[in-house]
Amino acid sequence: MFVIPCFGLLYLIIQYLIYFLTNFHTETKFPLKQDTAKGMVDSIKVAVRLRAPSKREEDLSPIVQVVSGNTVLAKSVDQRGFSRNFHFDHCFSSSNDPEEDQEKLYDSLGREYLLHALDGYNTCIFAYGQTGSGKSHTMNGQPSAPGLIPRLCKDLFEVRDLLAPTKDGITVELNVKCSYLEIYNEQVRDLLAGQDANNSISNCRVRERLDRTTFVEGLQEFTVHTVDEILDLLEQGNEIRVTEATHVNDRSSRSHAIFTIALDQKEISPLGQVLERKSHIKLIDLAGSERASASGSKGERFKEGSKINKSLSSLGRVISMLAKKNKPKLIPYRDSALTWVLKESLGGNSKTCMIACISPCDYEETTSTLRYATIAKSVKTAAHVNSYETSEQKEQMELMKRQLNDLQETLSELKDQKAIQDQMEKIKLTNDFLEQRIKREREQTVEYYDQLVQASTERDQLTQVLLSIAGSIQNSDLSDLAPVIERLQTDSRILGSKIDSDLSFCNKISGLT
Ligand code: ADP
Ligand code: MG
Repeated sequence: MFVIPCFGLLYLIIQYLIYFLTNFHTETKFPLKQDTAKGMVDSIKVAVRLRAPSKREEDLSPIVQVVSGNTVLAKSVDQRGFSRNFHFDHCFSSSNDPEEDQEKLYDSLGREYLLHALDGYNTCIFAYGQTGSGKSHTMNGQPSAPGLIPRLCKDLFEVRDLLAPTKDGITVELNVKCSYLEIYNEQVRDLLAGQDANNSISNCRVRERLDRTTFVEGLQEFTVHTVDEILDLLEQGNEIRVTEATHVNDRSSRSHAIFTIALDQKEISPLGQVLERKSHIKLIDLAGSERASASGSKGERFKEGSKINKSLSSLGRVISMLAKKNKPKLIPYRDSALTWVLKESLGGNSKTCMIACISPCDYEETTSTLRYATIAKSVKTAAHVNSYETSEQKEQMELMKRQLNDLQETLSELKDQKAIQDQMEKIKLTNDFLEQRIKREREQTVEYYDQLVQASTERDQLTQVLLSIAGSIQNSDLSDLAPVIERLQTDSRILGSKIDSDLSFCNKISGLT
């Protein structure tokens, strides 16, 4: 009686647990703040930054000007006076105050990408442009006017230090790691690995994961706890990075440099649920495109320049293919180390921004950069929040799964008990039926016994009669009747013994009662 309601209750609990376990994933159940957008289509954001004329350019007339927050106007220097407007997400001009310009650029652009990364998106900002157009100034800057990378690092650690439990009691842990590589002459080199006795840096290989994203094998990642630690590493890498004086730039970067900040955030709810977000920010200072005649490079420098141009053309090809409406299935990422390393940032899971740096007086190079930047605007990426269940959540799930298994076992045991009970019920019914039947048969046996007893009495009486008849016959001389009498006596004996055996059988049966 007790088993059936208990069985029903357990069934309900198990159904609820199955529902809970199949629907328990971070996005619907986890009460922490998060963006649930998966694989959102994003376009590469493009900003243009126009540098002020340098001392070398003082006598030249500018051919480009920023006419609004998102438009630049390029004018041809020939007699035709051809001019064209180019539109972008942001356009920055230069003032007399480099520090203020750097701050403005960071506030309008850099911080946005830091916030995306804190939300769990992979992000990438790369500076593109001809040699001397201001890429390194934009990304690294100088101590008097720090660029985007040091400002972003400073901001990141300020955010980290402000992290306090929310009013829901959620605490956030933020771990920061960084790595720094350069691509020089198509070789990938770890700028933080240290140099060997010959002052050379070992090369790293770019590998592809099973999910088709790429990574640099053996690239060292350093955990950093303070802004000073991360800026020291940045400085250390910049010291090693290959730079050389050219006609256009006294400290021209001869390699593409990629500084990566990896963020690992754990949001822990008061109930012990943990949501982990992993994201990275790639901050890239490309080597500049250059014409050998303009940069005045010869020998080794010329070879470097052609490698740089080759990888930038490959970047241009990848960008223009990705920008096509019907983009081809095969994008030639493998054509250069740069595009292979940046595969994910250019066409995958990343919010990406290109800062096209332009010089004010070089019509050819500047319009080429502006056209390149215009194409990049159409490139779509598919950024999504990289959030994961952490081991603590998995442990909870495992525990619940184990409890569910135990309950299911109990349920099946109860099912077995019920089967036994059903069987017992059937046996009882069969037993009742058999008892009824035995009772009826016994009644019939008693009736038959009475009849036999009566038959036996009658037989005795008949035997007596026969014996007296036989005596009278013997005494009289009725010898002809003797055989008849003898047969009667035999029949009477057979009948008598049959009645006796029936009686003893009846006695046996009645003994069962
Ligand atoms: P690139 O890295 O593109 O080759 P750099 O960033 O090294 O060029 O810039 C070349 C020179 O121009 C540097 O001396 C730099 O300080 C200066 N410069 C570039 N952009 C700016 C700017 N927006 N404001 C002030 N100076 C700049
Ligand atoms: Mg540079």
